[in-house]
Amino acid sequence: MFSSRENYSAKIGREVIKNVFYFGEYLSLDCNQYVIVDDVTRELALFDGGNGISLKGLIEGMKKFDLNFENITKIFLTHEHVDHVLGLYPLMEMLKNNPPKIYAFTETAKILNEGKESKIFPGNLGISPKMFGISIVPLHVIDLNDKGNFELGSEFIFKIYFTPGHSLGSICFYEPNKKILIPGDLVFTGGSFGRFDFPGGSLKQLTESIKFISTLDVKYLLPGHMDISSQGNLEVQNSFRMVQSIGRFL
Ligand SMILES: [Zn+2]
Repeated sequence: MFSSRENYSAKIGREVIKNVFYFGEYLSLDCNQYVIVDDVTRELALFDGGNGISLKGLIEGMKKFDLNFENITKIFLTHEHVDHVLGLYPLMEMLKNNPPKIYAFTETAKILNEGKESKIFPGNLGISPKMFGISIVPLHVIDLNDKGNFELGSEFIFKIYFTPGHSLGSICFYEPNKKILIPGDLVFTGGSFGRFDFPGGSLKQLTESIKFISTLDVKYLLPGHMDISSQGNLEVQNSFRMVQSIGRFL
């Protein structure tokens, strides 16, 4: 399922705007990751954990932009799915002397705090932690539930929106000044949107969540999979149209 080549290739990075970096997903059950630099402290915030197999590649990819993974002090998770969280386990092990804080929304935080393999790997997915060389342990994850905003340096003030439909713990991170949206697997570029057939998924909720984010002014759409876009409003509108048309056929 996973080629050994993937273990050693760097994640391809791109600077989206100053201090915002995109690292593209590997082919096999991985996710896009984003690094934001705090312009005051030079500390790094990482968005989503990847699948663990891709961690070496992320670290290599970051080096090309002079980003040292040891400066990661905050990790934000868009949702609880394996391709977004497994990388936390090896990363926290590597950073155990100076562990970053991990933030997620209620359901995601709960699952990771519990550290139960069966919750992180629902039986119907046909995959196990062994396939990723990872053992699941309880992690200390801070619940973003009651924290509406957070700042990263002097440049970014992110808002958090609960946007269920793809999973129970799905959130979007939105930065209104730079018009950045990190929607996890809610919407993708090219009119695409997240699956709603996993446990906790719902097409109705997904449609409502996409409708909500279509009211935001978005330039940079930085989704959990596929490519990124600097035509965020257009992309979100396309996804909204597509998800509505699917709903009409079901
Ligand atoms: Zn997902």
